[in-house]
Amino acid sequence: MSELINCPVCNSLCFPLDVVDFNKSCEESRGYFITLAEIPVYYFLCHTCQFCFAPMFAKWGKSDFEEKIYNKDYILVDPDYIEVRPRSNAASLIKMFSNGFEDIRHLDYGGGNGLMSQILCESGWQSTSYDPFNGEPDEPSRLGKFDLITAYEIFEHVADVQGLAENLSALSTSNGIILFSTLISDGNISPRRRITWWYASPRNGHISLFSKKSLAKLATQQGFRFGSFSNGFHAFWRTVPPWASHLIC
Ligand SMILES: [Zn+2]
Repeated sequence: MSELINCPVCNSLCFPLDVVDFNKSCEESRGYFITLAEIPVYYFLCHTCQFCFAPMFAKWGKSDFEEKIYNKDYILVDPDYIEVRPRSNAASLIKMFSNGFEDIRHLDYGGGNGLMSQILCESGWQSTSYDPFNGEPDEPSRLGKFDLITAYEIFEHVADVQGLAENLSALSTSNGIILFSTLISDGNISPRRRITWWYASPRNGHISLFSKKSLAKLATQQGFRFGSFSNGFHAFWRTVPPWASHLIC
């Protein structure tokens, strides 16, 4: 494969980095292996912003993802997504915003079965879940605008990263914040090195792997500022609202 492709984040030319089998999954890091699918998935790397992605998925429609990735076997490669992760994330948010949460309109973008929003609502939050793979319409703008948007383990699943950023921008109030998790590729993905990173797993739908530089670029394009709390937890914002001043200063 010698075709060059433009970076979905910064539009620079990207180069093929490596190829893995479609059935490579994150659970391989825990010793669970699926039989090879014998479908090659090429990852490309942008040498300008270090965004790494698998271009073949840009051609997939929603039904392809539902049939081939988010199907009945998805739970085998991401057993925590149904209950463990939503409960843990809800507990973290409740702890993070222990004051003033009653007035915050919260959206869990890509909220799966909606469990996290349900737990938050039971704790007095105004929380809504949106997930196009949970039988909901693709267009989230009908939901209005939100003060706090969370997107846990979403960014790495999205092929149209510009569309994702535009959606988040349109859904956010002018002084809203977006908290999201995705593992940073810095130190794990490099030019002229084969991909050995467990997170680069097509079977989990991990098709867009962000460097810090690429997240910062994506933020800037929508007028957001970008910051990281850790290697896996980040924020986009324009103006810090008073209720989040203890998090971002
Ligand atoms: Zn780039």
